Amino acid sequence: MSLWRDNIGRMAGYVPGEQPQDRRYIKLNTNENPYPPSPRALAALAAFSGERLRLYPDPAADVLRDTAARVYGLPGRDWVLAGNGSDDLLTIGTRTFVDQGGALAHPEPSYSLYPVLAGLQGARAVAVPLDAEFALPADAAAQATAAGCSLFFLARPNAPTGNLFPRAVVETLCREFAGVVWIDEAYGDFAPDNCLDFPARFPNVVVSRTFSKSYSLAGARLGLALARPELIGQMLKAKDSYNVDALTQAVGVAALADQAYLQDRVAAIRRTRDRVAAALVGLGCVVCPSASNFLFVKPARIPAAAAFAGLREHGVLVRYFPGDRTGEYLRITVGTDEEMDLLLAAMRELAGAG
Ligand code: PMP
Repeated sequence: MSLWRDNIGRMAGYVPGEQPQDRRYIKLNTNENPYPPSPRALAALAAFSGERLRLYPDPAADVLRDTAARVYGLPGRDWVLAGNGSDDLLTIGTRTFVDQGGALAHPEPSYSLYPVLAGLQGARAVAVPLDAEFALPADAAAQATAAGCSLFFLARPNAPTGNLFPRAVVETLCREFAGVVWIDEAYGDFAPDNCLDFPARFPNVVVSRTFSKSYSLAGARLGLALARPELIGQMLKAKDSYNVDALTQAVGVAALADQAYLQDRVAAIRRTRDRVAAALVGLGCVVCPSASNFLFVKPARIPAAAAFAGLREHGVLVRYFPGDRTGEYLRITVGTDEEMDLLLAAMRELAGAG
């Protein structure tokens, strides 16, 4: 008899992107934001009294939930759940909506945490293959239903591919799938449209957001889930009591209140993204259309694994996912213009073009 649960013994844990401590890299591997957080968030951090750390934080994070409801145009805080990053919310969602022995669905390729969450829950992960253009198949809901899934994780924009499933396609999925559709909008601020209106329109939809990308607060760990009060109420029971610390709650409220800064930085990242995508195409790379803050790129002339290693030698860290559908590509986070110029110079050299 082993000391641990069988499903834990059997599963492989999630592998996060490297956070190297040995040397300074141009860090384009974990989709962080190259710009600092909002000055208002930094001011809230500076004004936070350390004395307050003696006490537990507000377990429900109500000020943050009120602020989020206002910013996202929802009726009230009972439509919002705060998490220790959106990964925490994805875990809470799995616990709430998937039975042990049950199943959840996710597109393939997509965020590699989804099948890990199924493993932790003692449930099955059902991969719904995307087509050659990384589009969702028309029978996605039917596939998930036939496999007995009660939850469908859909990243929009998708990761690591960066593309945006059309709203109409997601609407069909929400209508046709009887379980919960969880629209993971971790990169939603970088996209031309979003599904923030879906929770009001569908009783079975959760939309999640993170502060790690567009808000430049990956180190603070904060995410939000938006859904009807019936779903939020069930998820509240499945979370750690104090899952968002007091400091992060204060910083999050200030960051949310500064939408002008957010929009300005998002616009800068989109401009850089589109410029770099065009330059990479000019080098002969294949670049997937991106609605996100990263590019999914098939390098010119050399295999992706070799480009990954070569870039590393040039001091540029990107993400490489070996495997059938993803192994020909690199996922490259959009950094500052200066960082991306160095990336382009290294890619040019690796492609032997100059
Ligand atoms: N969803 C997707 C699709 C992601 O790529 C990430 C980042 N790894 C997350 C959620 C989680 O982000 P965080 O926990 O930092 O909010």
